[in-house]
Amino acid sequence: MFWFSSTTVDDSEDRPRNFVDPELGEFNDILAQKNIRTVFQPIVALADGVIIGYEALSRGPEGSPLERPDALFRLAHKYNLIWELEYLCRTKALERVGDMGSDKMVFINIDPQCIDDQRFQKGLTRDLLEKYGLDAGNVIFEITERTAIDDYKKFRKLLDNYTSQGYKIAIDDTGSGYSGLRLLAQTHPHYIKVDMDMVRDIDKDGLKQAMMRALYDFSVITNSKIIAEGIETVDELNTIMDIGIPYGQGYLFRKPAAGFLDISPLVRQLIVTKTEQKKREIFQTPLTMPIGEIAHRDEVFSPATLVCQAIDHFNDIANAQGIAVVEDNQPVGLVMKNNLLSSLATQYGVALYMHRPIKLLMERNPLIVDYDTPLEQVSKSALARADDSIYDYIIVVRNKQYWGMTTVKRLLEKTSQLEISRAKHSNPLTGLPGNVLIEEKLKQMIASGGDFAVLYFDIDNFKPYNDIYGFENGDKVLCATATLIQKWLWEKDSSGTFFGHIGGDDFVAIIHDKNVAELCQSVIGSFDARMKDFYSEEDRQQGNIVALNRHGIIEKYPLISLSIAVVTSGSRVFRSPEEVGEAAGMVKKRCKMIWQSCYEIS
Ligand code: C2E
Ligand code: MG
Ligand code: MG
Repeated sequence: MFWFSSTTVDDSEDRPRNFVDPELGEFNDILAQKNIRTVFQPIVALADGVIIGYEALSRGPEGSPLERPDALFRLAHKYNLIWELEYLCRTKALERVGDMGSDKMVFINIDPQCIDDQRFQKGLTRDLLEKYGLDAGNVIFEITERTAIDDYKKFRKLLDNYTSQGYKIAIDDTGSGYSGLRLLAQTHPHYIKVDMDMVRDIDKDGLKQAMMRALYDFSVITNSKIIAEGIETVDELNTIMDIGIPYGQGYLFRKPAAGFLDISPLVRQLIVTKTEQKKREIFQTPLTMPIGEIAHRDEVFSPATLVCQAIDHFNDIANAQGIAVVEDNQPVGLVMKNNLLSSLATQYGVALYMHRPIKLLMERNPLIVDYDTPLEQVSKSALARADDSIYDYIIVVRNKQYWGMTTVKRLLEKTSQLEISRAKHSNPLTGLPGNVLIEEKLKQMIASGGDFAVLYFDIDNFKPYNDIYGFENGDKVLCATATLIQKWLWEKDSSGTFFGHIGGDDFVAIIHDKNVAELCQSVIGSFDARMKDFYSEEDRQQGNIVALNRHGIIEKYPLISLSIAVVTSGSRVFRSPEEVGEAAGMVKKRCKMIWQSCYEIS
């Protein structure tokens, strides 16, 4: 076979001219005997813990110096046998994927250097796919950004050739190489695999978080999906999920293995719980989220803990800057590392305190807040402290018992995250929750199985009003409508009421209150009275306005009125927000036939 050349390579001036690399012999044996194994590592959806596919990773003979793929590929590069190795690896991987499940994807690494090879360009993979009954849409080629790509035009052409055949492309190890963003910008990959260097300790590194967020924003704009590689700890997973990264891979889920193994049920449960918490969080604001939700239940000291033990603790846990002092489950003080070290740095500090109890040096009046105190209120109290204690940890109690601690950094980060999320999900005109939140709320109500009523508000004849009176006045009408509906909702049923702005002149409320008819009458009464203010005296007197219709013909339009279509869970079982929308749509049609404010409950 063609790769059996007894190649002699003179890559070192010190070596004799007839030097034959012993590794080359072993490498050629591997190729000849097709002695490559494939191991598979799952790639997991971070919304629900479902495995979307497996990455195929190649291994040389067990226990040999060429077992690791990097060693194999280093030799392949050295002796220009990349295509031979790659072809063998790919065949071995594809032979196995029949057992994977047809709904799963297989991620296959390609060395960018083999794109120069004519044999690669002919797309041998298609024959292999047919042989193993695979669909091209389930095959993703991973191209690493670790090696340089010199000719982007040629590279792009090659990728186009592959994508036109239905394959997908992933850029591997993003954030590790030097071509970085250029490769991303030029290849429009379906997936961006972020290198594990960027994932490692991301929970403790604000810079890595910022970079991951920037990549995430980029992926949203370019319609790629990010896979975070090498996730090893729960804290890394949580941080990555907080940023919104959709997929993950790493030892935390499963190490590469010979079979197509599932991830641990415990890790899947963590993902599901975190997703549910995130869903609840989109309804939260700094005014509603309790501080307890961002408190960590860290270790505590007793007042009798020795100062030297406290120093050991801070030395052992590099990130710990403070710790609560707790007695009989009640917080009695706080020790901040900086303050402790300053006390010891005084003339006789070490001699005086090192072997004495921590209670002598603890802060006796730390900020202690109840679990249910909203973030906004805690921020105010934290920032009202003296300048030298503004960054001291905040202790959280529940039923007067110690619960946990939080930092000012975490408090400010969560506050700004909630504000950004709120702004993202709100209607810019009224500030009310928009469609994502409306849909999520409906899903929650349906899942809860309780009784609820959904009220769809629609302003009749709003378009001609907007055309004649202008957008500015149109916006005023929408804001006034939102305010008066909200006022009545609060008056009738303040607990658990939800009010959102679908867009334009459509609003939706979800309530528990049984007395919907009375609420509708109150809203309509206020609406009809209030809307008079938005017309000229003349139009008000006439009771209509004159405007061009869709066909450019002058037509008379009645003054704006309000239709309220109500559907209740009492009368039927809803299985999805779409079913609620469809039912309400029918009721709305009937309301629209009446040319004055009205409501119908179905
Ligand atoms: P890669 O494509 O970035 O693959 C991920 C590597 O990270 C794998 O190493 C995997 O075992 C390892 N890994 C996954 N999760 C974790 C984790 O949580 N922590 C740590 N520390 N490591 C994790 P592996 O299998 O040694 O592969 C190394 C590289 O060799 C791969 O990096 C890939 O670039 C290359 N490679 C492997 N098989 C092939 C192949 O068939 N063809 C080509 N061209 N390259 C391959
Ligand atoms: Mg890879
Ligand atoms: Mg990688």
